[in-house]
Amino acid sequence: MPRGKRSKNFNFIFTDTEDSPATKFSDEHIIAQYDDFEKLEKFIQACDVITYEFENIPYKTLNHIFKKKPVYPDPQINNIIQDRLSEKKFINDLNIPTVPYLQIEDSNQLLLVEEKFFPAILKTRRLGYDGKGQTVINSLKEDLYIEKNDYILEKRIELKSEISVITVRYQDNSLFSYKPIENIHKDQILYTSTSPASISQELQTKAIKWSQDIIESLNYVGVICIEFFVDKYDNLFVNEIAPRVHNSGHLTIESYNVSQFQSHLRAVCDLSPIGPELKSKAQMLNLLGEDIYRYRDQKKIEKNIYFHDYFKKEAKKGRKMGHVTKILT
Ligand code: ADP
Ligand code: MG
Repeated sequence: MPRGKRSKNFNFIFTDTEDSPATKFSDEHIIAQYDDFEKLEKFIQACDVITYEFENIPYKTLNHIFKKKPVYPDPQINNIIQDRLSEKKFINDLNIPTVPYLQIEDSNQLLLVEEKFFPAILKTRRLGYDGKGQTVINSLKEDLYIEKNDYILEKRIELKSEISVITVRYQDNSLFSYKPIENIHKDQILYTSTSPASISQELQTKAIKWSQDIIESLNYVGVICIEFFVDKYDNLFVNEIAPRVHNSGHLTIESYNVSQFQSHLRAVCDLSPIGPELKSKAQMLNLLGEDIYRYRDQKKIEKNIYFHDYFKKEAKKGRKMGHVTKILT
């Protein structure tokens, strides 16, 4: 289609996955490998501004696009966050705590760790999500074999709660955070999110301050989500940084005047800022694997419940197939 014919809000998706939900909601899409530079060129030429919602797109690809068109967030940021080790170093350099961790490359190195560091979680430094690439190690007495890879070993802490803060930063430097959200995971996969989180005012203020310190020091444009751990003594730690809209923020669609998705696109497209305001309390439930059928098959869904289907074909175990948000009164 010649460029002039496209609508003002024309959106174009590039993905490496056949059954990719965004392609079902976009004006145009290309399915190809991220290193298919010929197909990428067609995509780059058609767009004015480019953003991404998956942090594991190869840095080389993002940087290639960045040389030709504006990309938000800056691919340099993604480069820091794609590696759990450089991510944690970056956070600690801002004087923000993470749980204690060690760098590990092979079984021999693991065997040298002091027994008192356990229980711990061994995580691959790259390409992990939804608990993938993670192994809980209770003690070195366990029968251990690890494949050669770059890992970090994180002390496993007793969690009182997990929270996340969604923050948006616009091109004019204006900055807004949504209220902290409380998250419950099942088998290391997000299960429910509740907004606002039931935490002290002090913790809320600290989590928002640290999120804003992180986004500002990255000179970041768009939506970022910072995941936090709270231990039984109410110590707060940053768990990880998601340089994108986040699953825990899906409830902002119904419970705020402006959703995380709108905020992200407004910032990336340099539209005028809108400050998020909570309209009502809400809880989101992820529909994993076959859970989706409970809602797909339902004719009438209760008032105050909003069902979102990602229309993925195969309901694999643990796969995020959709979610429901309940407005709490
Ligand atoms: P992913 O990139 O897969 O989201 P995370 O590091 O966020 O990986 O881990 C997923 C979940 O596993 C966390 O939300 C938390 O519930 C649990 N978890 C991860 N690290 C720790 C830890 N050090 N101590 C206790 N629980 C943890
Ligand atoms: Mg996580």
